[in-house]
Amino acid sequence: MKALEERIKQDGVVLSGDVLKVDQFLNHQMDPDLMFEMGQEFAHLFQNQGITKILTVESSGIAPAIMTGLQMHIPVVFARKHKSLTLTDNLYSSSVFSFTKQTENQITVSQKYISTDDKVLIIDDFLANGQAVFGLIDIAKQAGIELAGVGIVIEKSFQPGADKIKAQGIQLESLARIKSLTDGKVTFMDEH
Ligand code: 5GP
Repeated sequence: MKALEERIKQDGVVLSGDVLKVDQFLNHQMDPDLMFEMGQEFAHLFQNQGITKILTVESSGIAPAIMTGLQMHIPVVFARKHKSLTLTDNLYSSSVFSFTKQTENQITVSQKYISTDDKVLIIDDFLANGQAVFGLIDIAKQAGIELAGVGIVIEKSFQPGADKIKAQGIQLESLARIKSLTDGKVTFMDEH
C-alpha cells in the first residue's frame, strides 16, 4: 500500500534489534484516515471468502482490525494479554513470546465469542517471528474454526514469520513488506 510505505519512510524510526518504531501513526498516536484505508485494503484482499469474524490481539492489532471489520460488516474479537476479573473461565489460551518486550505472555479469548461455524481472518500490526500470529492460529485450532488467512500491516520479510505462515499454505497479505532495516534505513521488498 503506497500511502503506508510513504508514511513509514516519513515517520518510521529504526531502533536497534531490527525494530521499527511507528508511534507517530500506528502504535501510539494513530492516524484514522490511514487506518481506514488499511481496512479497505484488507477487506478488498479478503473479499468473497465467507469470513464471519476478525481475530486480533491487543493492543496494536485492534485499530487495523476494527477498520477491517467496519468494511466487512463483521465482528472483531481481540485476544487479551492480561488476566481480567470479568473474564475468568471458558477461555481458549495460548502462550506467545513477545518480540518487543522479550517476555512470555498468555493470550486468551472467551469461548463465547468464537464458535465452530466461524471462518476467521487474523489481523495484526507487525509480523516478525510469527509468535503472535501462531498464538492466534493455535486459538483458532482449539476452537475448531476455519482460518481464511492472515492480514498484516507491516511485515518484516527478513524475519522468519512470513515464510513460516506461507509454508503452512495460509494466505498471507501484508500492506507493507520490509526487506531490511540495515543502517537505520527502511528498504521495502519492491524497492531496488
Ligand atoms: P512476532 O510475534 O511476529 O515475532 O512479532 C509481532 C508482534 O511483535 C506484533 O504484534 C508487534 O506488536 C510486535 N513487533 C514485532 N516487531 C515489531 C517492530 O519492528 N516494531 C513494532 N512497533 N512492533 C513490533
